[in-house]
Amino acid sequence: MTKGTRIVLLGRQGSGKGTQCVRLSRHYVVPHISTGDMLRAAVREDSPLGRSVAEVIGSGGLVSDDLIVELVRERLGKADARRRGFLLDGFPRTVAQAVALDDISGDGALNAVIDLVVPREMVLDRLSARRVCRDCGANYQAGPVVRSPWTCDTCGGDVVQRDDDTPESINRRLDLYETQTAPLIEFYGATNRLFPVDGVGTPDQVFERITSIIDAR
Ligand code: AMP
Repeated sequence: MTKGTRIVLLGRQGSGKGTQCVRLSRHYVVPHISTGDMLRAAVREDSPLGRSVAEVIGSGGLVSDDLIVELVRERLGKADARRRGFLLDGFPRTVAQAVALDDISGDGALNAVIDLVVPREMVLDRLSARRVCRDCGANYQAGPVVRSPWTCDTCGGDVVQRDDDTPESINRRLDLYETQTAPLIEFYGATNRLFPVDGVGTPDQVFERITSIIDAR
């Protein structure tokens, strides 16, 4: 059983989810578990897992439920997550994964599933300008002049554009979000665990909205 604060953050790519997760994980002192970051690290290390998922990630598809569930099961079994809880980012992405998560967390039910709501039209520009720290996952927006090299203000890691932030891949991921991930909204809504949050506003405003919900739980 997992103890502590257990939060899932849902939302389209480009909704500001990554930025909020980095901040929330520091605020509540819980590990920020991003399946996308874990998979990208595996690709960089050229591990067997990385080699098996590189193509799917690059094209904006979804990695198989079985594989991703095992990855999360292993990660949530580690001491920090068992003791402190977790903040899940990018998982679950399908109803099958959500069902598996309930099974993995057992009695330690989720405190809240936050759905960060940002219209699709707004996220396209944000995603094209998105830059991400390779080490800590902090998100940045590139201006007209892109710094090169760019180091992370938080940890000094390399700030880069993700390989899958191409227009084709972005559109495919947004389409997949509608078909695969949107049913999660229904799944969590039906069990009264879903809290929609308006994701339009400054990062401070959105952070305030999210923490007020979590604090009330
Ligand atoms: P993200 O950083 O969350 O946007 O994830 C990047 C990519 O990793 C996605 O486009 C998928 O190819 C893959 N991925 C991450 N999390 C999952 C998941 N829960 N289920 C399936 N594929 C995933």
